Amino acid sequence: PYTLSLHDALPILEKLKTSEHQQKLFIGNITHEFKTPLTIIRAYVDLIEMYTDDPLLLEDAKKNIRKETDRLLDMVEKALHLSSLEKYDFEFNAKPIEIKELLRDICDRINVKAKKFELTIHCDFKEAYIWADPESVMQIFINILDNAIKYNRPNGKIFVSNYIDDDNVCVVIRDTGIGIPIGSEDKIFQPFYRVDKERSRQTSGIGLGLALVKKLVQMQNGNIKLMNINEKGTAIKISFPHYF
Ligand code: ATP
Ligand code: MG
Repeated sequence: PYTLSLHDALPILEKLKTSEHQQKLFIGNITHEFKTPLTIIRAYVDLIEMYTDDPLLLEDAKKNIRKETDRLLDMVEKALHLSSLEKYDFEFNAKPIEIKELLRDICDRINVKAKKFELTIHCDFKEAYIWADPESVMQIFINILDNAIKYNRPNGKIFVSNYIDDDNVCVVIRDTGIGIPIGSEDKIFQPFYRVDKERSRQTSGIGLGLALVKKLVQMQNGNIKLMNINEKGTAIKISFPHYF
């Protein structure tokens, strides 16, 4: 019979310890991140109670309460999604997906938002099939493109292209935005991590998008990689198993 030696058990124990540590971090972050919007909402309610007939305050309160409520809703949705992916083995609805069609579909959808920010999306797609869950793939690209819009500059560009590399189909999303500083390459995939917390709050960032993306990519047996980092922008490569 097989018995676990100390030598075999150590890496497993190490892994359990880090995942426990990560869970504690996650809960600590969640507590903090939930408190901030709730405190703001609470403060506005107090103010409205104190100054019952101040129309300017009322306008301000409405705007900010809505903003903070939207943020909370977004956070609850993403945090629950992420922790459920960590916890349960999901039955993914994997099937062959034609990536050209899917990418075109997503780019059309995101174009409205890009135009609002005066950004242009440039596409160059080749036909190829991947084996993945369509809903997850959709969420992966929407999150990445959302970042490419949010962290771009005025009149910036976004390039989306794909190529086939034998066993994999790779998609590259490049933007002409503010870029990701050296030293943050791995951190950006951690839950709640944001390069610039203040700026990110203004752009409504929570720091869960890429953590969710990474998990979803891994669950499709894919890979995600930050390609180049400099002030000229960001490029992210995502690959999925090629379906022949
Ligand atoms: P969320 O996606 O949950 O709404 P977020 O966009 O802040 O919030 P992530 O998508 O996880 O969070 O990204 C983490 C951080 O990485 C961002 O806050 C930002 O600082 C940095 N980042 C991500 N994508 C880009 C990009 N294309 N260009 C520059 N910085 C980026
Ligand atoms: Mg994001």
